[in-house]
Formats: sequence, structure tokens, C-alpha cells
Amino acid sequence: MAKIKSIRGMNDVTPKEVAIWQLVEKSIRSVFSSYGYEEIRLPVVEQTELFARSVGDSSDIVSKEMYTFEDRGGDGISLRPEGTAGCVRACIENDLLRIDSPRLWYMGPMFRYERPQKGRSRQFHQASAEVFGIDHHNADAELMMLAKSLWTDLGIRNNVNLEINSLGNSETRKKYKSLLHEFFKGFSSELDKDSQRQLKENPLRILDSKSETIKGLLADVPSILDHLDSESEDHFNKLKDLLTQSNIDFEVNDRLVRGLDYYNKTVFEWKTKDLGAQDTVCGGGRYDGLVEQLGGKKCPATGFSIGLERLVLLVKEHSKDNGPSTNNLDCNFICLTSESISYALLNAEKIRKEIPSLNLKVNLQATSANSQFKRADKSGSKIALIVGEEELKDNTISIKNLRGKESQETLSLDQVIETLKKL
Ligand code: ATP
Ligand code: MG
Repeated sequence: MAKIKSIRGMNDVTPKEVAIWQLVEKSIRSVFSSYGYEEIRLPVVEQTELFARSVGDSSDIVSKEMYTFEDRGGDGISLRPEGTAGCVRACIENDLLRIDSPRLWYMGPMFRYERPQKGRSRQFHQASAEVFGIDHHNADAELMMLAKSLWTDLGIRNNVNLEINSLGNSETRKKYKSLLHEFFKGFSSELDKDSQRQLKENPLRILDSKSETIKGLLADVPSILDHLDSESEDHFNKLKDLLTQSNIDFEVNDRLVRGLDYYNKTVFEWKTKDLGAQDTVCGGGRYDGLVEQLGGKKCPATGFSIGLERLVLLVKEHSKDNGPSTNNLDCNFICLTSESISYALLNAEKIRKEIPSLNLKVNLQATSANSQFKRADKSGSKIALIVGEEELKDNTISIKNLRGKESQETLSLDQVIETLKKL
């Protein structure tokens, strides 16, 4: 029969790969909570309208990348392409913003119908942080400090660079969009279909284009920073000062706009030179209007998302000796006869109860002693417990240190537990 394959762009993480994912996730959990951010867990499906109203109808994400369908009740729902919209929805729905200024984080799969390639898949994963209720540049700065701590913890501090920009207030963007309109009018023959559509719907997006022709045209494009409103300018200047004081290197990139509609004032990206074309590891910015736009009371907010596939690739590239090992086994239970397997299972239960921290794997196939020892050795186990005909008859267990020179001993269960505890 024909084999059933996974859906294009949706990848398995095999046990061999899981170790590095766990390492990255553990670091994220610990760094986020060390800054006092609380975890929130959100659904992966939301009403389609949530994304249309927040990310924006004309964004690439909503216009061509969403997995949208009708459920059995006829409601239009979508797999989430990003997390901020759902997080804001949840904050409003659970009334989290009324008395508190929550600082939240979450991590999980996102879905976008894109062309799969290195660092780009259709189911991918993000870890995100969001800060609500603070309109001050301090909140933007803290997010960048947090990200920097994460890069340091993962050993890639020197492999990512921070770029920042300001998109000003809505007046700034309105003014700037018309300037872009004027500017690109002179190049209309060089614009592809996509860019022409963007120019009509939201000219800011052209700055985010991946097309080399468009990138070429951008050399002389006006800078949004020359058109900032005074409040945004002040915010941006104070942010830059604070970053400098906290030794966070950054580059101002006045072409940085980001692909979602809801940003204002600060936007930023951490980029790397080590992953080829998919070079943004983390992107974020301020979205002071979004809560109100989604039906809440006016509430400033700022946040970022890290692409975990790219982060994992980067950590892998820079971790010495190929990263962590999946093999965290302490002990293998080797069964020499098929009758001894259930005896091993029962004894393993008793051992785990006495030593909960022990990673003990019972071999469920009585293959040759030689092959079981070889596998135990390869798995990283330090100890082998062995049962065969003799042990089964005498109600004992043999124990061998796989990393030492001591010879094998045959002991009672209690003695085995004592020995393992000492190790
Ligand atoms: P890109 O320009 O690479 O498409 P984006 O601007 O669409 O990125 P964001 O919406 O800002 O991405 O998402 C934040 C991060 O999530 C990105 O910087 C990237 O690391 C990651 N990301 C986005 N889309 C994908 C994808 N299809 N596959 C893997 N990671 C992704
Ligand atoms: Mg994209």
C-alpha cells in the first residue's frame, strides 16, 4: 500500500533532534521567568476575523498565507499564523488588562502557507513575549534586554545583531505612505505585480520586499525617521540611549517595517548572517492601538516573537560537539531470556519508586547479550542491570558499571537500590 506522507512544510522532530529543542525551550522558559514574565497558553485556532482585523487584510500573512477553513458549524476559522492577535484577544476576554499590566510569554506552533525552505516551514514555532499597559520606551528596552539574555544563555550572543526603527504614529505613517507613493510612481514599470498591489494597499510593505529589483530601488527612498512626530522621536531617542547604556549594540535601519499592520513607534529585528536568506531570528515592536482595535479599552503594548526553527539551527551551528545528546539514560535493564522481561519490568518499577531521578530503560526484547550491551553502551547508560535464567531462579539482579572496570556483581533488589543510590 502507498505510504501516507506528512503535509508539505510540516515537519517531524525526531527523537535525535528533540534534545536541542528541549535545550532551547528550557532556556526560553528560564530566561522569560527570570524577567518576571508569566506564561499564557492560547488556542491554535481562532476566528478568521481576528487576524483580518489585526494582522491586516492586505498583509502577506492574511492575504495569502493563512490556513483558513469552515468548521462543521459553518464558522470561518484559521490556524493561527502568529500569536499576538490571539494573546490580545485572550487578555480582553479574560479581563487581564483592567487592573494589571501583564507581562506574558507563550510558545507554540504557528501556520503559514509559504514555500518551504531552510528556516521556513508551514508549521513553525515561535516563542513570544508581550508587555501590556506600558507606553514607555522602558518596556521596549526590557524586551531587548530579555532577548539578549536569551542569546547569551544559548551561546549565540555574537551571532545575532539588533536592528531598530520607528514607525511613528498614524499621522507619520499616513504622511510617509504618500511619500512612498510619490517615490515609486517614478518606477512603476519596474514594479512586479506584488509590489504594485502593495503600493495600492499599503506602500510600507514594499520596503519589506524580498525582490532584488525592489531592494535595488530602495537606495534613494525617503527615510521615515525624517518624518516622525515629536512624541515618537522622543521615544525613539530615549530607547536608543537606554540601549547604549545597557551595552546592547544596535543598528538603526530606517527601512525596517515588518509585515504586520499593527505596529507603531518601535519596531526591531534580531538578524543573523549564519542562516542564509532566512536571516531574521526574532522580530517585534510596539502595537499601542491593537487592544482597542480588537474591542478592548485603549491599552499600549509591545512584544516580540522568536522563530524557533531558526533559533535551533543557529544554536546547533554554534554549539560545540554538535549540541546536547538525547541520551540521558542512566541505566539499562538487560533481559537475557524472554521469561526474565516481566521480572525486570516489575523490579524496575520498585527501583524507580525508590530513586525517582533515575532514567532506567527496560529492554523489552531478549536479543543476544552482546547486542544489548552494545546498545546500552551507545545509549550513554552508565549502568547495566542484568537478568537471565540464574537471576530469575534466585530472585536476584546482576549489576555492571559500564564505565568502570569493576566486575559484575549479583545482588538482591535492596542491595541494587543501595548501590544505585550511591552512584
Ligand atoms: P520573514 O520575513 O522571514 O517571512 P516575517 O516577518 O514573516 O519573517 P514574523 O511574522 O515577524 O516573520 O515572525 C517572527 C519570526 O518568526 C520571524 O523572524 C522568523 O524567525 C519566524 N518565522 C516567520 N515565518 C516563518 C516560517 N514560515 N517558518 C519558520 N519561521 C518563521
Ligand atoms: Mg513572512
